[in-house]
Amino acid sequence: GATIGILGGGQLGRMLSAAASRLGLRTHIYEPGANPPAGDVAHRVTTASYEDEAALAAFADSVDVVTYEFENIPTAALDLLDSKAMIRPGREALRISQDRLTEKTFLQGLGLKTAPFADISDLPGLEAALATIGAPAILKTRRFGYDGQGQARLKTPDDAASALAEMRGAPAILEGFVTFSREISVIAARGVTGEIACYDPGENVHVDGILHTTDVPARLTPAQRSDAVLLAANILNALDYVGVLGVELFVTDAGLVVNEIAPRVHNSGHWTQNGCAVDQFEQHIRAVAGWPLGDGTRHSDVQMENLIGEAVLGAHDLAKESATALHLYGKTEVKAGRKMGHVNRIRSAGK
Ligand code: ATP
Ligand code: MG
Ligand code: MG
Repeated sequence: GATIGILGGGQLGRMLSAAASRLGLRTHIYEPGANPPAGDVAHRVTTASYEDEAALAAFADSVDVVTYEFENIPTAALDLLDSKAMIRPGREALRISQDRLTEKTFLQGLGLKTAPFADISDLPGLEAALATIGAPAILKTRRFGYDGQGQARLKTPDDAASALAEMRGAPAILEGFVTFSREISVIAARGVTGEIACYDPGENVHVDGILHTTDVPARLTPAQRSDAVLLAANILNALDYVGVLGVELFVTDAGLVVNEIAPRVHNSGHWTQNGCAVDQFEQHIRAVAGWPLGDGTRHSDVQMENLIGEAVLGAHDLAKESATALHLYGKTEVKAGRKMGHVNRIRSAGK
């Protein structure tokens, strides 16, 4: 069978490797850190930095396709990999989603709604942007932010200087605060022939900037549900995308507002492991390997709950719950804010 190269050895790489293995495919993980969670499951692991050109070249030569579990891969490494192997999803999806400014500009160009935003490089610029966008607002680093890190909330324009200091000189974007009734996400896939399969939207609850639970079905009107799925398909087609994409949305009175996109499998799609015949990990592997997409129809109502930090210590109690699937990532060191595993609780059968 073919070998899928995966950049990144975290829990997403681990679950991608497990899905590939079920299809008789092999995975080769590339990860700078020692003992990556994906290493237990993958067929092969290269421990090397993204500056190591020889290791990158050998990795590219050993695989049939390169995919990734995170979007912050250095450009020079991508250039090298690109010259030797096929990268799916393609470079354009990475380029756009690596930078919140590029991402929001792209989304608006597709006619989609985003929070009002402005590029920020200094205090006068921030004050000018606040005069237009208004407060409350959120200042975010353009790059490298995840789990709500690299963000500062401004209640009033007086918070400008302290918020900017929190960016520590990094390029930033100011976003107007969106008043939303709920947060949802759509996990969508596109295959090599352009076929699209969207999972049912999930309703997300964040605690301290980190995803806590995802519930399916989300509480949406039929019109909202179809809007969500159609806009995800719009994004996939615009990027000529191959693989799984996560789209985070705010539900507002004025319609759906796109928060951000992730060119990969997504934490809010973990419910698919126990709610669908073909989960997001298998769907991604199918897409990047050039297979037909699978049936992602939701067969059950599910609540996914992340086990963050010490929450994982209750795993053996969770293991006793009925209709509950426990997924642990094999991380030995428990740290506050670290994603250690998740549970999928099957709430009902049928749709
Ligand atoms: P992730 O781990 O999802 O990649 P992130 O660090 O990229 O997170 P965002 O998704 O941009 O961060 O923001 C985290 C959360 O903060 C959002 O899910 C939402 O609850 C809230 N939030 C972010 N931007 C806005 C906004 N413009 N208006 C209102 N709430 C927002
Ligand atoms: Mg993000
Ligand atoms: Mg987010």
